[in-house]
Amino acid sequence: MRCPRGESSSGFNITPRPFSRAKLHQALSRLISPADNLIYEYLMKVIALLLSAGHGSRFGAERPKQFLPLMGRPILRHAAEALLAEGLVDAIQPVAPAGEEALVSAMLEGLACLPTIAGGATREESVRAGLAAIAAKAPSYVLVHDAARPIIPSGTISALLSALETKAGAIPAQPVSDTLKRVVGGLITETVPREGLYRAQTPQAFRYSVLRDAHAAPSRGATDDAALLEAMGQEVAIVAGSERNVKITWPEDYARVQADFAARMVPRTGTGFDVHRLVPERPLYLCGVLIPSPMGLDGHSDADVGLHALCDAIYGALAEGDIGRWFPPSEANWKDADSAMFLRHAAERVAARGGALVHVDVTLICERPKIAPHADAMRARIAELAGIPTDVVSVKATTTERLGFAGRGEGIAAQAAATVMLPL
Ligand code: MG
Repeated sequence: MRCPRGESSSGFNITPRPFSRAKLHQALSRLISPADNLIYEYLMKVIALLLSAGHGSRFGAERPKQFLPLMGRPILRHAAEALLAEGLVDAIQPVAPAGEEALVSAMLEGLACLPTIAGGATREESVRAGLAAIAAKAPSYVLVHDAARPIIPSGTISALLSALETKAGAIPAQPVSDTLKRVVGGLITETVPREGLYRAQTPQAFRYSVLRDAHAAPSRGATDDAALLEAMGQEVAIVAGSERNVKITWPEDYARVQADFAARMVPRTGTGFDVHRLVPERPLYLCGVLIPSPMGLDGHSDADVGLHALCDAIYGALAEGDIGRWFPPSEANWKDADSAMFLRHAAERVAARGGALVHVDVTLICERPKIAPHADAMRARIAELAGIPTDVVSVKATTTERLGFAGRGEGIAAQAAATVMLPL
């Protein structure tokens, strides 16, 4: 039984759900009309603000650190996926650096996100902008999360929401284990007792109305939202934080998080092989590039033998069948289809599995055309379609010494290998 929005903060059901609320969001947004959105928003109880407005001056990179890639996807996308992973967050409200809203939306495409808004000059201003953006939805609970924290250990969000049944706020925190020194002018002036001291992490969770009231007051330069509630005398609980929940602030943090992800990924390799017949009066597409030729390849789609072998290699690495399973030749839709869409789909399947395409290698087998003059264009096209760097794309060719069908120029063959990193 759902509570009317904003009315009760004690009715949150923490028991495991049969399916994810984020998936429900996606399904509903497809099914319902804009007018019915009001009814849908009635169901929206937990919204997470994803703060990515910081410029990361301490990190020293040209781009904000939350935009850097981690296993082939931006850090902020990992942070968003981590927020949605437990199925307890209905929607994410992204808060971007001013002018980068479209970029942030693109990085979060396909996830349960509200339209991205611009943040302010300080963290506090960004949270205030996020709270204003979701005001009409009046969620029961709001989470505030740093986009530079890509790992939220499982169980954190359910513990936070459970704590909100009796407290106005809850945050994950880790006890301080190092001895603390106060230093002035390079010299220690004091050893600070560490007993009872904790390091605050995010996501921080609050009853929406309490956080909204806390931010209604003039800015106090707080570095987290719990501080605002503390100042108001509200109770903020802590739940178990984690050393894995790293805020990427310094370059060594980035290395730590990369190692954490790598330790939870395994490499998988797939291979693909394809042949198409050469016929007159067909265009010749190889690895996404139109090659001037008196003959072209015959087939149901554009018959790009190189992309077909590559797609089968990627599907093979995922153990998800082959190109014919996803795009049956019996369906008229794929008649003369641009094979670019097949490669885009295969790359999307890797992303959907939480993986990264780390290397591909295509070998075209034919006497002619000569492939070498086109190889770099083919590499660039594959890189563009798969969303990977050109330097992890190999395209090469061989002949069969005029033996067999390829040697007689009756057709072109291609073989490919793809290496994918997938979560354990
Ligand atoms: Mg084929």
